[in-house]
Amino acid sequence: MKYVDEFRDPAAAKALLAAIDRLAGRLGRTLRFMEVCGGHTHTIYRHGLESLLPEQVEFIHGPGCPVCVIPMGRVDDAVWLAHRPGVIFTTFGDMMRVPGSRGSLLQAQAAGADVRFVYSPLDALKIARDNPQREVVFFALGFETTAPATALTVAAARAARVDNFSVFCNHVLIEAPLRTLLETSDLTLDGFIGPGHVATVVGSDHFQFIPEEFRLPIVITGFEPLDILQAVDMLLTQYAKGRCAVENQYARVVRPGGNPEALRALAEVFTPRESFEWRGLGAIPRSGYRLADAYAGFDAERRFELPAQRVADHPACQCGLVLTGQIKPAQCRVFGTGCTPERPIGTCMVSPEGACAAYYTFGRISRLAAVPRS
Ligand code: SF4
Repeated sequence: MKYVDEFRDPAAAKALLAAIDRLAGRLGRTLRFMEVCGGHTHTIYRHGLESLLPEQVEFIHGPGCPVCVIPMGRVDDAVWLAHRPGVIFTTFGDMMRVPGSRGSLLQAQAAGADVRFVYSPLDALKIARDNPQREVVFFALGFETTAPATALTVAAARAARVDNFSVFCNHVLIEAPLRTLLETSDLTLDGFIGPGHVATVVGSDHFQFIPEEFRLPIVITGFEPLDILQAVDMLLTQYAKGRCAVENQYARVVRPGGNPEALRALAEVFTPRESFEWRGLGAIPRSGYRLADAYAGFDAERRFELPAQRVADHPACQCGLVLTGQIKPAQCRVFGTGCTPERPIGTCMVSPEGACAAYYTFGRISRLAAVPRS
Protein backbone atom coordinates (compact mmCIF):
# COMPACT_ATOMS: atom_id res chain seq x y z
CA MET A 1 0.00 0.00 0.00
CA LYS A 2 1.58 3.26 -1.10
CA TYR A 3 2.67 5.54 1.75
CA VAL A 4 2.14 2.71 4.25
CA ASP A 5 4.21 -0.37 3.32
CA GLU A 6 7.38 1.58 2.58
CA PHE A 7 7.11 3.20 6.02
CA ARG A 8 6.92 -0.23 7.70
CA ASP A 9 9.83 -1.85 5.88
CA PRO A 10 11.84 -4.05 8.32
CA ALA A 11 15.20 -3.59 6.52
CA ALA A 12 14.83 0.19 6.56
CA ALA A 13 13.84 0.04 10.24
CA LYS A 14 16.97 -1.98 11.09
CA ALA A 15 19.17 0.52 9.26
CA LEU A 16 17.59 3.45 11.08
CA LEU A 17 17.89 1.69 14.44
CA ALA A 18 21.60 1.03 13.79
CA ALA A 19 22.12 4.73 12.99
CA ILE A 20 20.19 5.72 16.14
CA ASP A 21 22.30 3.31 18.24
CA ARG A 22 25.51 4.85 16.91
CA LEU A 23 24.36 8.41 17.63
CA ALA A 24 22.90 7.55 21.04
CA GLY A 25 26.07 5.71 22.05
CA ARG A 26 28.01 8.97 21.76
CA LEU A 27 25.58 10.97 23.91
CA GLY A 28 26.59 9.95 27.40
CA ARG A 29 23.13 10.79 28.75
CA THR A 30 19.44 10.13 28.12
CA LEU A 31 17.56 12.51 25.83
CA ARG A 32 13.85 13.02 26.51
CA PHE A 33 11.71 13.73 23.45
CA MET A 34 8.06 14.69 23.83
CA GLU A 35 5.75 13.30 21.16
CA VAL A 36 3.11 16.02 21.13
CA CYS A 37 0.43 14.09 19.28
CA GLY A 38 -1.61 11.17 20.59
CA GLY A 39 -1.35 9.56 17.14
CA HIS A 40 2.39 9.28 17.67
CA THR A 41 1.91 7.71 21.10
CA HIS A 42 -0.36 5.15 19.47
CA THR A 43 2.23 4.32 16.75
CA ILE A 44 5.05 4.04 19.29
CA TYR A 45 3.19 1.50 21.42
CA ARG A 46 1.36 -0.35 18.69
CA HIS A 47 4.64 -1.10 16.93
CA GLY A 48 6.74 -1.58 20.06
CA LEU A 49 9.18 1.16 19.06
CA GLU A 50 10.12 2.11 22.61
CA SER A 51 11.49 -1.36 23.27
CA LEU A 52 13.59 -1.21 20.08
CA LEU A 53 15.28 2.08 20.90
CA PRO A 54 18.42 2.43 23.04
CA GLU A 55 17.95 3.46 26.65
CA GLN A 56 19.42 6.90 25.90
CA VAL A 57 16.14 7.77 24.13
CA GLU A 58 13.03 8.33 26.26
CA PHE A 59 9.59 9.31 24.99
CA ILE A 60 7.51 11.75 27.04
CA HIS A 61 3.83 11.80 26.10
CA GLY A 62 2.39 15.24 25.40
CA PRO A 63 -0.96 17.05 25.45
CA GLY A 64 -1.93 16.41 21.82
CA CYS A 65 -4.86 13.99 22.17
CA PRO A 66 -7.97 16.14 21.58
CA VAL A 67 -10.38 13.97 23.58
CA CYS A 68 -7.93 13.66 26.50
CA VAL A 69 -7.64 17.40 27.10
CA ILE A 70 -11.39 18.01 27.46
CA PRO A 71 -12.17 18.64 31.16
CA MET A 72 -15.11 17.07 32.94
CA GLY A 73 -17.03 20.35 32.98
CA ARG A 74 -17.22 20.43 29.17
CA VAL A 75 -18.46 16.81 29.14
CA ASP A 76 -21.16 17.85 31.61
CA ASP A 77 -22.14 20.71 29.30
CA ALA A 78 -22.43 18.25 26.40
CA VAL A 79 -24.63 15.91 28.46
CA TRP A 80 -26.78 18.89 29.54
CA LEU A 81 -27.21 19.96 25.89
CA ALA A 82 -28.09 16.40 24.88
CA HIS A 83 -30.92 16.37 27.42
CA ARG A 84 -32.54 19.60 26.12
CA PRO A 85 -36.02 18.83 24.75
CA GLY A 86 -36.04 18.61 20.95
CA VAL A 87 -32.24 18.43 20.64
CA ILE A 88 -30.38 15.89 18.52
CA PHE A 89 -26.84 15.88 19.90
CA THR A 90 -24.17 14.65 17.48
CA THR A 91 -20.62 13.66 18.36
CA PHE A 92 -17.62 11.62 17.26
CA GLY A 93 -17.73 8.10 18.67
CA ASP A 94 -14.84 8.36 21.12
CA MET A 95 -16.50 11.23 23.03
CA MET A 96 -19.52 9.00 23.78
CA ARG A 97 -17.78 7.12 26.61
CA VAL A 98 -15.92 9.99 28.30
CA PRO A 99 -17.27 10.21 31.84
CA GLY A 100 -18.79 13.42 33.13
CA SER A 101 -19.84 14.04 36.72
CA ARG A 102 -23.39 12.92 35.88
CA GLY A 103 -22.49 10.19 33.39
CA SER A 104 -21.35 10.03 29.78
CA LEU A 105 -23.12 10.81 26.51
CA LEU A 106 -23.58 7.07 26.08
CA GLN A 107 -25.44 6.96 29.40
CA ALA A 108 -27.44 10.03 28.38
CA GLN A 109 -28.44 8.16 25.21
CA ALA A 110 -29.46 5.13 27.28
CA ALA A 111 -31.56 7.46 29.45
CA GLY A 112 -33.49 8.70 26.43
CA ALA A 113 -31.49 11.63 25.04
CA ASP A 114 -31.19 11.65 21.24
CA VAL A 115 -27.39 11.30 20.94
CA ARG A 116 -26.05 10.17 17.58
CA PHE A 117 -22.46 9.53 16.61
CA VAL A 118 -21.21 10.90 13.31
CA TYR A 119 -18.05 10.60 11.24
CA SER A 120 -17.86 14.27 10.23
CA PRO A 121 -19.55 17.62 10.91
CA LEU A 122 -21.16 17.33 7.47
CA ASP A 123 -23.03 14.24 8.73
CA ALA A 124 -24.41 16.41 11.55
CA LEU A 125 -25.42 19.10 9.07
CA LYS A 126 -27.26 16.50 7.01
CA ILE A 127 -29.17 15.39 10.13
CA ALA A 128 -30.16 19.05 10.65
CA ARG A 129 -31.41 19.36 7.06
CA ASP A 130 -33.37 16.12 7.44
CA ASN A 131 -34.93 17.22 10.75
CA PRO A 132 -35.88 20.91 10.33
CA GLN A 133 -38.21 20.79 13.35
CA ARG A 134 -35.38 19.71 15.70
CA GLU A 135 -32.31 21.54 17.05
CA VAL A 136 -29.13 19.69 15.96
CA VAL A 137 -25.94 20.36 17.94
CA PHE A 138 -22.52 19.12 16.84
CA PHE A 139 -19.83 18.50 19.51
CA ALA A 140 -16.83 20.01 17.71
CA LEU A 141 -13.44 19.13 19.12
CA GLY A 142 -9.85 18.69 18.04
CA PHE A 143 -6.83 20.81 17.27
CA GLU A 144 -6.24 22.85 14.11
CA THR A 145 -6.36 19.49 12.29
CA THR A 146 -10.14 19.04 12.51
CA ALA A 147 -11.19 22.65 13.01
CA PRO A 148 -11.21 23.49 9.25
CA ALA A 149 -13.87 20.82 8.63
CA THR A 150 -16.04 22.39 11.33
CA ALA A 151 -15.42 25.87 9.91
CA LEU A 152 -16.40 24.83 6.38
CA THR A 153 -19.51 23.08 7.71
CA VAL A 154 -20.64 26.17 9.64
CA ALA A 155 -20.04 28.31 6.54
CA ALA A 156 -22.10 25.82 4.50
CA ALA A 157 -24.90 25.90 7.12
CA ARG A 158 -25.03 29.70 6.92
CA ALA A 159 -24.97 29.70 3.11
CA ALA A 160 -27.83 27.16 3.00
CA ARG A 161 -29.68 28.83 5.93
CA VAL A 162 -29.82 25.66 7.99
CA ASP A 163 -30.87 27.60 11.09
CA ASN A 164 -31.53 24.58 13.30
CA PHE A 165 -27.80 23.63 13.28
CA SER A 166 -25.28 24.76 15.90
CA VAL A 167 -21.81 23.82 17.12
CA PHE A 168 -20.66 23.22 20.71
CA CYS A 169 -17.13 24.40 20.01
CA ASN A 170 -14.23 22.76 21.84
CA HIS A 171 -11.53 23.25 19.22
CA VAL A 172 -8.12 23.94 20.72
CA LEU A 173 -4.85 25.40 19.49
CA ILE A 174 -1.46 23.74 19.76
CA GLU A 175 0.90 26.65 20.43
CA ALA A 176 -0.55 27.90 23.73
CA PRO A 177 -0.33 24.60 25.69
CA LEU A 178 3.21 23.96 24.42
CA ARG A 179 4.24 27.41 25.57
CA THR A 180 2.56 26.81 28.94
CA LEU A 181 4.41 23.52 29.33
CA LEU A 182 7.75 25.06 28.43
CA GLU A 183 7.27 28.18 30.53
CA THR A 184 5.72 26.76 33.69
CA SER A 185 6.63 23.09 34.02
CA ASP A 186 9.85 21.85 35.62
CA LEU A 187 9.86 19.02 33.08
CA THR A 188 13.24 18.47 31.41
CA LEU A 189 12.82 18.04 27.67
CA ASP A 190 15.42 17.75 24.92
CA GLY A 191 13.20 18.10 21.88
CA PHE A 192 9.86 17.42 20.24
CA ILE A 193 8.42 14.90 17.82
CA GLY A 194 6.19 17.52 16.20
CA PRO A 195 2.49 17.00 15.43
CA GLY A 196 2.27 16.08 11.75
CA HIS A 197 -1.49 16.43 11.41
CA VAL A 198 -1.66 19.90 12.99
CA ALA A 199 1.37 20.98 10.94
CA THR A 200 -0.46 19.94 7.77
CA VAL A 201 -2.82 22.84 8.46
CA VAL A 202 -0.65 25.41 10.26
CA GLY A 203 2.67 24.59 8.53
CA SER A 204 6.07 23.64 9.91
CA ASP A 205 7.09 27.33 10.23
CA HIS A 206 4.42 27.70 12.92
CA PHE A 207 6.78 25.88 15.32
CA GLN A 208 9.80 28.20 14.92
CA PHE A 209 9.12 29.59 18.40
CA ILE A 210 10.36 26.31 19.93
CA PRO A 211 14.00 26.54 18.76
CA GLU A 212 14.04 30.35 18.69
CA GLU A 213 12.62 31.02 22.16
CA PHE A 214 13.22 27.75 24.03
CA ARG A 215 16.39 26.44 22.32
CA LEU A 216 14.90 23.00 21.65
CA PRO A 217 14.83 21.09 18.35
CA ILE A 218 11.59 19.83 16.83
CA VAL A 219 11.00 17.44 13.95
CA ILE A 220 7.54 17.50 12.34
CA THR A 221 6.74 13.80 12.00
CA GLY A 222 4.42 11.39 10.20
CA PHE A 223 2.52 8.52 11.79
CA GLU A 224 4.09 5.31 10.50
CA PRO A 225 6.80 3.49 12.48
CA LEU A 226 9.63 4.52 10.14
CA ASP A 227 8.46 8.14 10.39
CA ILE A 228 9.02 8.04 14.15
CA LEU A 229 12.38 6.28 13.88
CA GLN A 230 13.56 8.76 11.26
CA ALA A 231 12.44 11.65 13.47
CA VAL A 232 14.46 10.26 16.40
CA ASP A 233 17.47 9.92 14.07
CA MET A 234 16.99 13.54 12.92
CA LEU A 235 16.72 14.82 16.50
CA LEU A 236 19.86 12.93 17.56
CA THR A 237 21.69 14.22 14.48
CA GLN A 238 20.80 17.78 15.46
CA TYR A 239 22.35 17.12 18.87
CA ALA A 240 25.42 15.50 17.32
CA LYS A 241 25.95 18.51 15.05
CA GLY A 242 25.12 21.11 17.69
CA ARG A 243 22.08 22.36 15.78
CA CYS A 244 18.65 23.36 17.05
CA ALA A 245 15.97 23.86 14.40
CA VAL A 246 12.52 22.97 13.07
CA GLU A 247 12.94 20.09 10.62
CA ASN A 248 10.21 18.49 8.56
CA GLN A 249 10.30 14.69 8.33
CA TYR A 250 6.69 14.66 7.05
CA ALA A 251 7.47 16.61 3.88
CA ARG A 252 5.23 14.31 1.84
CA VAL A 253 2.29 16.11 3.47
CA VAL A 254 3.44 19.20 5.41
CA ARG A 255 4.47 22.50 3.79
CA PRO A 256 6.29 25.33 5.60
CA GLY A 257 3.26 27.63 5.33
CA GLY A 258 0.60 24.96 5.89
CA ASN A 259 -2.67 24.77 4.00
CA PRO A 260 -3.79 28.30 2.95
CA GLU A 261 -7.40 27.26 2.22
CA ALA A 262 -7.80 25.66 5.63
CA LEU A 263 -6.18 28.66 7.34
CA ARG A 264 -8.54 31.02 5.50
CA ALA A 265 -11.57 29.00 6.68
CA LEU A 266 -10.33 29.10 10.29
CA ALA A 267 -9.77 32.87 10.18
CA GLU A 268 -13.23 33.43 8.68
CA VAL A 269 -15.33 31.31 11.04
CA PHE A 270 -13.43 31.23 14.36
CA THR A 271 -11.85 33.66 16.75
CA PRO A 272 -9.55 32.76 19.69
CA ARG A 273 -11.26 32.56 23.09
CA GLU A 274 -9.85 34.71 25.84
CA SER A 275 -9.15 31.49 27.67
CA PHE A 276 -10.04 27.78 27.49
CA GLU A 277 -9.90 25.23 30.29
CA TRP A 278 -7.72 22.14 29.66
CA ARG A 279 -7.78 18.92 31.63
CA GLY A 280 -4.78 18.99 33.93
CA LEU A 281 -3.39 22.24 32.58
CA GLY A 282 -6.11 24.61 33.80
CA ALA A 283 -7.25 27.71 31.93
CA ILE A 284 -4.81 28.73 29.19
CA PRO A 285 -5.22 32.13 27.51
CA ARG A 286 -6.01 32.10 23.77
CA SER A 287 -5.76 28.31 23.58
CA GLY A 288 -9.17 27.56 22.04
CA TYR A 289 -11.56 28.75 19.36
CA ARG A 290 -15.11 30.06 19.58
CA LEU A 291 -17.29 31.01 16.64
CA ALA A 292 -16.73 34.53 15.32
CA ASP A 293 -19.53 37.04 15.89
CA ALA A 294 -20.62 36.78 12.24
CA TYR A 295 -21.50 33.11 12.97
CA ALA A 296 -22.92 33.64 16.49
CA GLY A 297 -26.26 32.10 15.47
CA PHE A 298 -24.51 28.77 14.97
CA ASP A 299 -22.80 28.83 18.39
CA ALA A 300 -24.53 26.40 20.79
CA GLU A 301 -23.02 28.21 23.79
CA ARG A 302 -24.81 31.41 22.77
CA ARG A 303 -27.98 29.65 21.63
CA PHE A 304 -28.51 27.67 24.83
CA GLU A 305 -27.88 28.96 28.33
CA LEU A 306 -25.33 26.48 29.61
CA PRO A 307 -25.18 25.95 33.40
CA ALA A 308 -22.60 28.32 34.89
CA GLN A 309 -21.51 25.87 37.60
CA ARG A 310 -18.45 23.79 36.67
CA VAL A 311 -17.38 20.52 38.27
CA ALA A 312 -13.73 19.66 38.89
CA ASP A 313 -12.25 16.49 37.37
CA HIS A 314 -12.59 13.16 39.26
CA PRO A 315 -10.31 13.27 42.34
CA ALA A 316 -8.60 10.00 41.33
CA CYS A 317 -7.93 11.22 37.80
CA GLN A 318 -4.25 11.83 37.09
CA CYS A 319 -4.69 12.55 33.37
CA GLY A 320 -3.26 16.03 33.90
CA LEU A 321 0.04 14.56 35.09
CA VAL A 322 0.10 12.18 32.10
CA LEU A 323 -0.76 14.95 29.63
CA THR A 324 2.05 17.13 30.94
CA GLY A 325 4.59 14.32 30.87
CA GLN A 326 5.05 14.26 34.65
CA ILE A 327 4.10 10.61 35.04
CA LYS A 328 3.79 7.63 32.68
CA PRO A 329 0.32 6.08 32.42
CA ALA A 330 1.26 2.99 34.42
CA GLN A 331 2.31 5.25 37.30
CA CYS A 332 -1.25 6.56 37.74
CA ARG A 333 -2.68 5.15 40.97
CA VAL A 334 -5.79 3.79 39.23
CA PHE A 335 -4.26 2.56 35.94
CA GLY A 336 -5.59 -0.87 35.03
CA THR A 337 -7.47 -1.21 38.33
CA GLY A 338 -10.01 1.58 38.92
CA CYS A 339 -9.50 2.88 35.38
CA THR A 340 -9.71 0.60 32.35
CA PRO A 341 -11.02 1.10 28.78
CA GLU A 342 -14.26 -0.65 29.84
CA ARG A 343 -14.68 1.54 32.93
CA PRO A 344 -12.61 4.69 32.39
CA ILE A 345 -12.13 7.35 35.03
CA GLY A 346 -10.05 9.67 32.88
CA THR A 347 -10.06 10.69 29.23
CA CYS A 348 -6.60 9.25 28.44
CA MET A 349 -8.07 5.75 28.82
CA VAL A 350 -11.00 6.43 26.46
CA SER A 351 -9.58 7.83 23.25
CA PRO A 352 -7.59 5.47 21.02
CA GLU A 353 -5.05 8.32 20.92
CA GLY A 354 -4.81 8.45 24.72
CA ALA A 355 -1.52 7.37 26.26
CA CYS A 356 -3.25 5.23 28.92
CA ALA A 357 -5.32 3.41 26.28
CA ALA A 358 -2.15 2.77 24.24
CA TYR A 359 -0.30 1.35 27.26
CA TYR A 360 -3.28 -0.75 28.28
CA THR A 361 -4.18 -2.03 24.79
CA PHE A 362 -0.71 -2.91 23.60
CA GLY A 363 0.53 -4.15 26.95
CA ARG A 364 3.91 -2.49 26.65
CA ILE A 365 4.62 -1.04 30.05
CA SER A 366 7.77 0.99 29.59
CA ARG A 367 10.93 0.07 31.41
CA LEU A 368 10.87 3.72 32.50
CA ALA A 369 7.42 3.35 34.07
CA ALA A 370 8.50 0.48 36.28
CA VAL A 371 8.66 2.67 39.35
CA PRO A 372 6.38 2.79 42.39
CA ARG A 373 3.01 4.48 41.85
CA SER A 374 2.38 7.73 43.64
S1 SF4 B 1 -5.25 5.61 34.29
FE1 SF4 B 1 -7.20 6.70 33.99
S2 SF4 B 1 -7.27 8.29 35.56
FE2 SF4 B 1 -5.14 7.55 35.42
S3 SF4 B 1 -4.16 8.96 34.02
FE3 SF4 B 1 -4.89 7.23 32.79
S4 SF4 B 1 -6.94 7.80 32.11
FE4 SF4 B 1 -6.37 9.24 33.71
